[in-house]
Amino acid sequence: MMTVGYQRVSRRSPCGICGKPDWCSTTRDHRITFCARSATDADRISSSGWGVFYREIRHVPHPVYSLQRKQPRSSKPNALAPVEIRDKVYKELIRFSPLFDHISLLSEEWVSPDQYLSRYGMLPKSAQRRQRLAQSIDDALAKKGARVRALRGVPGFWRTSNGRLQVGGNYDYADDLLLIPFIGSNGLIQACQLKAIGKNSRTSPKYSWLSSIRQRDGCGPGTPLHYEGAIGFKGKTIETVLVTEGALKAATCQSFLPDRYVVGNSGVATSHREIVKAARKKALEIAFDADCFTNPHVARALASLVASRVSEQQFLSCEQPTRILKWDKRFKGIDDALIAGATVHYLDVPEWLKLLTPECFDAASHQLADISPSK
Ligand SMILES: [Zn+2]
Repeated sequence: MMTVGYQRVSRRSPCGICGKPDWCSTTRDHRITFCARSATDADRISSSGWGVFYREIRHVPHPVYSLQRKQPRSSKPNALAPVEIRDKVYKELIRFSPLFDHISLLSEEWVSPDQYLSRYGMLPKSAQRRQRLAQSIDDALAKKGARVRALRGVPGFWRTSNGRLQVGGNYDYADDLLLIPFIGSNGLIQACQLKAIGKNSRTSPKYSWLSSIRQRDGCGPGTPLHYEGAIGFKGKTIETVLVTEGALKAATCQSFLPDRYVVGNSGVATSHREIVKAARKKALEIAFDADCFTNPHVARALASLVASRVSEQQFLSCEQPTRILKWDKRFKGIDDALIAGATVHYLDVPEWLKLLTPECFDAASHQLADISPSK
Protein backbone atom coordinates (compact mmCIF):
# COMPACT_ATOMS: atom_id res chain seq x y z
CA MET A 1 0.00 0.00 0.00
CA MET A 2 2.86 2.38 0.82
CA THR A 3 4.33 3.75 -2.38
CA VAL A 4 7.18 6.10 -3.03
CA GLY A 5 6.38 9.60 -1.83
CA TYR A 6 4.35 8.45 1.16
CA GLN A 7 5.42 8.23 4.78
CA ARG A 8 3.93 6.93 8.00
CA VAL A 9 3.27 9.45 10.72
CA SER A 10 5.59 9.27 13.72
CA ARG A 11 6.02 10.72 17.16
CA ARG A 12 8.11 13.49 15.68
CA SER A 13 5.65 14.07 12.86
CA PRO A 14 2.17 13.08 14.07
CA CYS A 15 -0.98 12.94 11.94
CA GLY A 16 -2.18 16.43 10.98
CA ILE A 17 -5.81 15.34 11.44
CA CYS A 18 -6.03 13.21 14.59
CA GLY A 19 -2.69 14.17 16.15
CA LYS A 20 -1.67 10.55 16.84
CA PRO A 21 1.80 9.14 16.03
CA ASP A 22 0.76 5.84 14.41
CA TRP A 23 -1.33 4.24 11.67
CA CYS A 24 -1.97 7.37 9.62
CA SER A 25 0.21 8.51 6.74
CA THR A 26 0.92 11.50 4.57
CA THR A 27 2.62 12.30 1.31
CA ARG A 28 6.20 13.47 1.84
CA ASP A 29 5.27 16.97 0.76
CA HIS A 30 2.38 16.90 3.28
CA ARG A 31 -0.14 17.82 0.59
CA ILE A 32 -2.31 14.80 1.31
CA THR A 33 -2.98 13.20 4.70
CA PHE A 34 -4.53 9.75 5.13
CA CYS A 35 -6.06 9.50 8.58
CA ALA A 36 -6.97 6.04 9.88
CA ARG A 37 -9.00 7.44 12.76
CA SER A 38 -11.08 10.24 11.38
CA ALA A 39 -12.99 10.68 8.17
CA THR A 40 -14.95 13.61 9.54
CA ASP A 41 -15.14 16.28 6.85
CA ALA A 42 -12.54 14.43 4.78
CA ASP A 43 -12.26 15.41 1.15
CA ARG A 44 -12.78 11.81 0.28
CA ILE A 45 -12.95 8.40 1.89
CA SER A 46 -10.46 5.71 0.92
CA SER A 47 -11.58 2.20 0.04
CA SER A 48 -10.64 1.06 3.54
CA GLY A 49 -12.56 3.88 5.18
CA TRP A 50 -9.70 6.27 5.89
CA GLY A 51 -10.21 9.98 5.70
CA VAL A 52 -8.24 11.55 2.88
CA PHE A 53 -7.48 15.23 3.39
CA TYR A 54 -6.05 17.45 0.67
CA ARG A 55 -4.23 20.66 1.38
CA GLU A 56 -5.10 22.05 -2.02
CA ILE A 57 -7.46 20.36 -4.35
CA ARG A 58 -9.03 20.82 -7.72
CA HIS A 59 -10.09 17.39 -8.84
CA VAL A 60 -12.45 16.27 -6.09
CA PRO A 61 -15.82 17.83 -5.38
CA HIS A 62 -14.65 19.94 -2.49
CA PRO A 63 -13.20 23.38 -2.13
CA VAL A 64 -9.61 24.41 -1.67
CA TYR A 65 -8.64 24.53 1.95
CA SER A 66 -5.72 24.44 4.30
CA LEU A 67 -4.75 21.34 6.20
CA GLN A 68 -4.04 23.43 9.26
CA ARG A 69 -7.37 23.06 10.97
CA LYS A 70 -6.53 25.65 13.59
CA GLN A 71 -6.15 28.44 11.07
CA PRO A 72 -9.08 30.84 11.18
CA ARG A 73 -11.68 30.24 8.51
CA SER A 74 -12.94 33.06 6.30
CA SER A 75 -16.25 32.73 8.09
CA LYS A 76 -17.49 30.48 10.87
CA PRO A 77 -19.12 27.28 9.63
CA ASN A 78 -22.86 27.20 10.04
CA ALA A 79 -24.49 25.02 12.63
CA LEU A 80 -26.13 21.99 11.12
CA ALA A 81 -29.80 22.57 10.27
CA PRO A 82 -32.31 20.26 12.01
CA VAL A 83 -32.61 16.92 10.24
CA GLU A 84 -36.19 17.73 9.16
CA ILE A 85 -34.82 20.65 7.14
CA ARG A 86 -31.89 18.71 5.71
CA ASP A 87 -34.27 15.94 4.68
CA LYS A 88 -36.53 18.43 2.85
CA VAL A 89 -33.63 20.02 1.00
CA TYR A 90 -32.00 16.73 -0.03
CA LYS A 91 -35.34 15.31 -1.16
CA GLU A 92 -35.82 18.35 -3.41
CA LEU A 93 -32.26 17.92 -4.70
CA ILE A 94 -32.98 14.31 -5.67
CA ARG A 95 -36.38 15.24 -7.09
CA PHE A 96 -34.81 17.91 -9.33
CA SER A 97 -31.88 15.70 -10.34
CA PRO A 98 -32.91 12.05 -10.07
CA LEU A 99 -30.70 9.13 -10.89
CA PHE A 100 -33.12 7.48 -13.28
CA ASP A 101 -32.59 10.27 -15.78
CA HIS A 102 -29.01 9.00 -16.08
CA ILE A 103 -29.56 5.30 -15.74
CA SER A 104 -27.43 4.48 -18.77
CA LEU A 105 -24.36 5.82 -16.93
CA LEU A 106 -24.50 3.12 -14.30
CA SER A 107 -21.77 0.57 -14.73
CA GLU A 108 -22.12 -3.14 -14.13
CA GLU A 109 -20.90 -2.74 -10.57
CA TRP A 110 -24.28 -1.24 -9.64
CA VAL A 111 -25.81 -3.91 -7.41
CA SER A 112 -28.42 -2.05 -5.41
CA PRO A 113 -31.91 -3.49 -5.94
CA ASP A 114 -33.89 -1.69 -8.62
CA GLN A 115 -36.73 -0.77 -6.31
CA TYR A 116 -34.38 1.67 -4.58
CA LEU A 117 -33.37 3.54 -7.73
CA SER A 118 -35.77 6.39 -7.06
CA ARG A 119 -34.00 7.03 -3.78
CA TYR A 120 -30.76 8.18 -5.39
CA GLY A 121 -29.88 11.33 -7.25
CA MET A 122 -27.22 12.57 -9.63
CA LEU A 123 -25.17 15.68 -8.94
CA PRO A 124 -24.43 17.41 -12.27
CA LYS A 125 -20.78 18.00 -13.15
CA SER A 126 -21.42 21.54 -14.39
CA ALA A 127 -20.98 24.19 -11.68
CA GLN A 128 -23.46 26.40 -13.48
CA ARG A 129 -26.10 23.67 -13.55
CA ARG A 130 -25.55 23.09 -9.85
CA GLN A 131 -26.04 26.79 -9.15
CA ARG A 132 -29.37 26.67 -10.95
CA LEU A 133 -30.25 23.50 -9.06
CA ALA A 134 -29.55 25.13 -5.69
CA GLN A 135 -31.67 28.15 -6.67
CA SER A 136 -34.55 25.91 -7.85
CA ILE A 137 -34.50 24.05 -4.53
CA ASP A 138 -34.56 27.30 -2.59
CA ASP A 139 -37.46 28.59 -4.73
CA ALA A 140 -39.42 25.34 -4.42
CA LEU A 141 -39.05 25.28 -0.66
CA ALA A 142 -40.04 28.94 -0.38
CA LYS A 143 -43.16 28.21 -2.43
CA LYS A 144 -44.02 25.37 -0.09
CA GLY A 145 -43.61 27.74 2.83
CA ALA A 146 -40.69 25.78 4.31
CA ARG A 147 -38.70 27.92 6.65
CA VAL A 148 -35.24 27.29 5.27
CA ARG A 149 -33.13 30.42 5.27
CA ALA A 150 -31.25 30.15 1.98
CA LEU A 151 -30.44 26.48 2.59
CA ARG A 152 -28.26 27.40 5.56
CA GLY A 153 -26.94 24.58 7.69
CA VAL A 154 -27.42 21.99 4.97
CA PRO A 155 -24.05 20.35 4.16
CA GLY A 156 -23.10 20.89 0.53
CA PHE A 157 -24.95 24.19 0.12
CA TRP A 158 -23.33 27.61 0.41
CA ARG A 159 -23.25 31.11 -1.07
CA THR A 160 -20.63 32.20 -3.62
CA SER A 161 -18.87 35.58 -3.38
CA ASN A 162 -21.38 37.08 -5.82
CA GLY A 163 -24.23 35.93 -3.62
CA ARG A 164 -25.42 32.97 -5.65
CA LEU A 165 -26.48 29.73 -4.02
CA GLN A 166 -24.32 26.74 -4.91
CA VAL A 167 -24.28 23.04 -4.13
CA GLY A 168 -20.92 21.26 -4.22
CA GLY A 169 -17.73 22.89 -5.49
CA ASN A 170 -17.74 26.06 -7.58
CA TYR A 171 -15.99 24.44 -10.56
CA ASP A 172 -16.87 21.71 -13.05
CA TYR A 173 -16.27 18.09 -12.03
CA ALA A 174 -14.87 15.46 -14.38
CA ASP A 175 -18.23 13.70 -14.37
CA ASP A 176 -21.70 13.64 -12.86
CA LEU A 177 -21.68 12.10 -9.37
CA LEU A 178 -24.08 9.61 -7.86
CA LEU A 179 -25.88 11.13 -4.87
CA ILE A 180 -26.45 8.63 -2.06
CA PRO A 181 -28.63 9.68 0.89
CA PHE A 182 -27.53 8.68 4.39
CA ILE A 183 -30.73 8.09 6.31
CA GLY A 184 -30.99 8.64 10.07
CA SER A 185 -32.64 6.40 12.65
CA ASN A 186 -35.87 8.37 12.15
CA GLY A 187 -35.96 7.63 8.41
CA LEU A 188 -34.99 11.18 7.38
CA ILE A 189 -32.05 12.05 5.13
CA GLN A 190 -29.27 13.50 7.29
CA ALA A 191 -26.47 13.82 4.73
CA CYS A 192 -25.46 12.66 1.26
CA GLN A 193 -22.43 10.87 -0.08
CA LEU A 194 -21.14 11.31 -3.61
CA LYS A 195 -19.82 8.44 -5.66
CA ALA A 196 -17.90 8.62 -8.92
CA ILE A 197 -19.46 6.25 -11.42
CA GLY A 198 -19.11 5.55 -15.10
CA LYS A 199 -15.95 6.01 -17.10
CA ASN A 200 -14.12 8.21 -14.59
CA SER A 201 -14.77 6.03 -11.57
CA ARG A 202 -11.40 4.30 -11.89
CA THR A 203 -9.38 7.47 -11.98
CA SER A 204 -11.24 9.80 -9.65
CA PRO A 205 -11.81 9.25 -5.93
CA LYS A 206 -14.73 6.94 -5.37
CA TYR A 207 -16.55 8.36 -2.36
CA SER A 208 -16.79 11.77 -0.75
CA TRP A 209 -19.35 13.66 1.31
CA LEU A 210 -21.56 16.36 -0.10
CA SER A 211 -20.05 19.05 2.12
CA SER A 212 -19.50 22.78 2.17
CA ILE A 213 -17.51 22.90 5.41
CA ARG A 214 -14.80 25.14 3.97
CA GLN A 215 -17.11 27.47 2.06
CA ARG A 216 -18.79 30.74 2.91
CA ASP A 217 -21.98 29.98 4.87
CA GLY A 218 -21.23 26.28 4.51
CA CYS A 219 -21.05 23.32 6.85
CA GLY A 220 -20.05 19.66 6.91
CA PRO A 221 -21.99 16.48 7.64
CA GLY A 222 -19.55 14.79 10.03
CA THR A 223 -19.57 11.01 9.50
CA PRO A 224 -23.14 9.90 10.12
CA LEU A 225 -24.32 6.30 10.26
CA HIS A 226 -26.85 5.20 7.65
CA TYR A 227 -29.92 3.39 9.05
CA GLU A 228 -31.29 1.27 6.22
CA GLY A 229 -33.45 -0.50 8.80
CA ALA A 230 -35.31 2.75 9.49
CA ILE A 231 -37.00 2.40 6.10
CA GLY A 232 -36.52 -1.24 5.13
CA PHE A 233 -36.87 -3.35 8.29
CA LYS A 234 -40.15 -5.20 8.30
CA GLY A 235 -39.78 -7.32 11.46
CA LYS A 236 -41.67 -6.74 14.69
CA THR A 237 -38.82 -6.43 17.15
CA ILE A 238 -35.19 -5.99 16.29
CA GLU A 239 -33.15 -9.03 17.33
CA THR A 240 -30.10 -8.56 15.16
CA VAL A 241 -28.35 -5.46 13.87
CA LEU A 242 -26.10 -5.95 10.85
CA VAL A 243 -23.46 -3.39 9.94
CA THR A 244 -21.87 -3.13 6.52
CA GLU A 245 -19.82 -0.52 4.66
CA GLY A 246 -21.87 2.25 3.13
CA ALA A 247 -25.49 2.95 2.25
CA LEU A 248 -25.54 1.05 -1.05
CA LYS A 249 -24.38 -2.24 0.49
CA ALA A 250 -26.78 -1.66 3.38
CA ALA A 251 -29.71 -1.43 0.95
CA THR A 252 -28.71 -4.70 -0.71
CA CYS A 253 -28.21 -6.46 2.64
CA GLN A 254 -31.59 -5.27 3.88
CA SER A 255 -33.41 -6.66 0.87
CA PHE A 256 -31.64 -10.07 1.11
CA LEU A 257 -31.70 -10.30 4.91
CA PRO A 258 -35.08 -8.83 5.87
CA ASP A 259 -34.95 -10.16 9.45
CA ARG A 260 -31.92 -7.98 10.24
CA TYR A 261 -31.96 -4.29 11.00
CA VAL A 262 -29.19 -3.06 8.70
CA VAL A 263 -26.95 -0.03 9.22
CA GLY A 264 -24.05 1.18 7.06
CA ASN A 265 -21.05 3.21 8.21
CA SER A 266 -19.10 5.47 5.87
CA GLY A 267 -15.87 3.52 6.43
CA VAL A 268 -14.69 0.67 8.61
CA ALA A 269 -13.24 3.04 11.19
CA THR A 270 -16.24 5.37 11.55
CA SER A 271 -19.42 5.55 13.69
CA HIS A 272 -18.37 2.79 16.10
CA ARG A 273 -20.11 4.34 19.08
CA GLU A 274 -23.33 4.75 17.15
CA ILE A 275 -23.21 1.16 15.85
CA VAL A 276 -22.70 -0.18 19.37
CA LYS A 277 -25.63 1.91 20.55
CA ALA A 278 -27.89 0.72 17.70
CA ALA A 279 -27.02 -2.91 18.57
CA ARG A 280 -27.41 -2.49 22.34
CA LYS A 281 -28.99 -5.63 23.85
CA LYS A 282 -29.25 -7.16 20.38
CA ALA A 283 -27.04 -9.48 18.37
CA LEU A 284 -24.49 -7.65 16.22
CA GLU A 285 -23.33 -8.93 12.83
CA ILE A 286 -20.36 -7.27 11.16
CA ALA A 287 -20.15 -7.57 7.37
CA PHE A 288 -17.15 -5.48 6.35
CA ASP A 289 -15.45 -6.28 3.06
CA ALA A 290 -13.56 -9.57 2.69
CA ASP A 291 -10.24 -7.76 3.22
CA CYS A 292 -10.98 -7.69 6.98
CA PHE A 293 -9.07 -11.01 6.99
CA THR A 294 -6.04 -9.77 5.06
CA ASN A 295 -5.77 -6.00 5.44
CA PRO A 296 -4.35 -5.09 8.89
CA HIS A 297 -5.97 -1.64 8.80
CA VAL A 298 -9.41 -3.12 8.26
CA ALA A 299 -8.80 -5.91 10.81
CA ARG A 300 -7.72 -3.30 13.33
CA ALA A 301 -10.85 -1.20 12.74
CA LEU A 302 -13.10 -4.24 13.01
CA ALA A 303 -11.40 -5.32 16.26
CA SER A 304 -11.79 -1.82 17.65
CA LEU A 305 -15.55 -2.00 16.94
CA VAL A 306 -15.67 -5.38 18.71
CA ALA A 307 -13.75 -3.90 21.65
CA SER A 308 -16.28 -1.04 22.03
CA ARG A 309 -19.11 -3.54 21.77
CA VAL A 310 -17.65 -5.89 24.39
CA SER A 311 -16.80 -3.14 26.85
CA GLU A 312 -20.37 -1.81 26.63
CA GLN A 313 -21.74 -5.32 27.17
CA GLN A 314 -19.48 -5.76 30.20
CA PHE A 315 -20.73 -2.45 31.56
CA LEU A 316 -24.41 -3.40 31.01
CA SER A 317 -23.86 -7.05 32.01
CA CYS A 318 -25.38 -8.42 28.83
CA GLU A 319 -23.92 -10.82 26.32
CA GLN A 320 -25.81 -11.00 23.07
CA PRO A 321 -23.64 -12.53 20.36
CA THR A 322 -21.24 -10.63 18.11
CA ARG A 323 -20.63 -12.34 14.77
CA ILE A 324 -18.36 -11.60 11.85
CA LEU A 325 -19.65 -12.58 8.44
CA LYS A 326 -17.46 -14.46 5.99
CA TRP A 327 -18.09 -15.47 2.40
CA ASP A 328 -16.21 -16.67 -0.67
CA LYS A 329 -13.34 -14.21 -1.10
CA ARG A 330 -13.97 -13.95 -4.82
CA PHE A 331 -16.63 -11.47 -3.73
CA LYS A 332 -15.24 -8.33 -2.14
CA GLY A 333 -18.42 -7.04 -0.53
CA ILE A 334 -21.31 -8.87 1.07
CA ASP A 335 -23.64 -7.34 -1.53
CA ASP A 336 -21.91 -9.19 -4.38
CA ALA A 337 -21.86 -12.40 -2.30
CA LEU A 338 -25.58 -12.21 -1.52
CA ILE A 339 -26.51 -11.45 -5.11
CA ALA A 340 -24.41 -14.39 -6.33
CA GLY A 341 -26.08 -16.66 -3.77
CA ALA A 342 -22.78 -17.47 -2.04
CA THR A 343 -22.94 -19.15 1.36
CA VAL A 344 -22.41 -16.77 4.27
CA HIS A 345 -20.70 -18.08 7.40
CA TYR A 346 -21.20 -16.53 10.82
CA LEU A 347 -18.04 -16.53 12.92
CA ASP A 348 -17.64 -15.63 16.57
CA VAL A 349 -14.72 -13.38 17.46
CA PRO A 350 -12.21 -16.18 18.35
CA GLU A 351 -13.04 -17.97 15.09
CA TRP A 352 -12.45 -14.77 13.13
CA LEU A 353 -9.10 -14.17 14.89
CA LYS A 354 -7.96 -17.69 13.95
CA LEU A 355 -8.49 -16.99 10.25
CA LEU A 356 -6.50 -13.76 10.15
CA THR A 357 -3.09 -13.36 8.55
CA PRO A 358 -0.35 -12.92 11.22
CA GLU A 359 -0.13 -9.19 10.51
CA CYS A 360 -3.91 -8.81 10.85
CA PHE A 361 -3.92 -10.91 14.03
CA ASP A 362 -1.36 -8.57 15.60
CA ALA A 363 -3.37 -5.49 14.65
CA ALA A 364 -6.63 -7.01 15.92
CA SER A 365 -5.34 -8.49 19.16
CA HIS A 366 -3.72 -5.16 20.05
CA GLN A 367 -7.20 -3.59 19.95
CA LEU A 368 -8.73 -6.43 21.95
CA ALA A 369 -5.95 -6.57 24.56
CA ASP A 370 -7.85 -4.56 27.17
CA ILE A 371 -11.01 -6.62 27.06
CA SER A 372 -9.85 -10.22 26.78
CA PRO A 373 -6.74 -12.18 27.64
CA SER A 374 -5.02 -12.41 24.29
CA LYS A 375 -2.92 -15.46 23.71
ZN1 LIG B 1 -4.84 10.43 11.86
